[in-house]
Amino acid sequence: MTTETKPYRVLLYYKYVTIENYEEFAKEHLAYCKELGVKGRILVAREGINGTLSGTVEQSQAYMDYMHAHPLFQDMIFKVDEADGHAFKKIFVRPRPELVTFRLEDDINPNELTGKRLKPKEFMEALQQEDVIVLDGRNDYEFDVGHFRGAIRPEVESFREFPEWIRENLSQFKDKKVLTYCTGGIRCEKLSGFLIREGFQDVSQLDGGIVTYGKDPEVQGRLWDGKLYVFDERITVRVNQTDEETVVGKCLHCGTPSEKYINCTYDFCHNHHIVCEACEEAKSGYCSEECEEKDAALQSTRAN
Ligand SMILES: [Zn+2]
Ligand SMILES: [Zn+2]
Repeated sequence: MTTETKPYRVLLYYKYVTIENYEEFAKEHLAYCKELGVKGRILVAREGINGTLSGTVEQSQAYMDYMHAHPLFQDMIFKVDEADGHAFKKIFVRPRPELVTFRLEDDINPNELTGKRLKPKEFMEALQQEDVIVLDGRNDYEFDVGHFRGAIRPEVESFREFPEWIRENLSQFKDKKVLTYCTGGIRCEKLSGFLIREGFQDVSQLDGGIVTYGKDPEVQGRLWDGKLYVFDERITVRVNQTDEETVVGKCLHCGTPSEKYINCTYDFCHNHHIVCEACEEAKSGYCSEECEEKDAALQSTRAN
């Protein structure tokens, strides 16, 4: 692997740990981040912290040192990507009731109940076993641009839809070995715990998520098809570092391989979808003819 020396970094991290007075913590943390000059999106809850941010090498290093000096975050694991510039325009530090919006009637504390943690190599080996159920723990639009070979595409547009979808679609697999994965690992901590509580016998999660899997020098992202959807200005990043890398994203309109995401031009739709260059121009960024017609009607009303 080459040693990269880009001037910026993108950090991704989380930790489930009780933060008393988390609203106060969020305020102070925002002030610190602004002073430091990092940009990104950090969620703070009573149950912990989940952040992704960008900064120069110096800023991001100062941030990691600052966090590691904090008694609650001494063992925080940071996933670090090299970058050419900031991946965010602003800094947000937001207090939230939950780190990932699950809204379970009875919440899960991953420090008490969660699936077995598999290192990238263990996960890659498990993927190749017979009779394993591989569940993508992300949303459908994230799956569409890349996923593990053979994984189940969850028909969910947001994380809170998972419990119902699992009860309706996966109940017959309770005796099978189940593997879950998500971007950085935070969603699987709860998802795998939920599966166990639902009666699944053998549940494992990819420790550190897809991001860690793609950086592992041994597995190098093998068995991953397509790209990884990320929640910053990069939109997608590479996972499979080997020559078996492929494009799995498809244009919503014509099916041509593409990895470009846009939001539907119609403000009341804003459907996040993949398009090819030709269709983006031909359809003016609308996800459907219906949206184009509704928007045209709206524009003419406004003009009158
Ligand atoms: Zn197209
Ligand atoms: Zn639309």
